[in-house]
Amino acid sequence: MIQFNKIIFSNIHFVFFILISSCNTVHKEVYICEGKYSKKYHLKKNCNGLSNCSTEIYKVTLSEAKEKGRTICAIEN
Ligand SMILES: [Zn+2]
Repeated sequence: MIQFNKIIFSNIHFVFFILISSCNTVHKEVYICEGKYSKKYHLKKNCNGLSNCSTEIYKVTLSEAKEKGRTICAIEN
């Protein structure tokens, strides 16, 4: 019975770990350019891919960037 409880306990920890790590992904901030041809998101504001951005550089969450159909910058991936 003690062993059984131990297994349950470690599984709960595992579930929490998954929840926390998926939350971090959702709230992770990335940078996007709102230019007409911009289809990427960037992990760093000073990325070379953003240097020729003609508009403001916006900071959004990773989930927002993905909702906009953005994919990760080829340089940073
Ligand atoms: Zn980039």
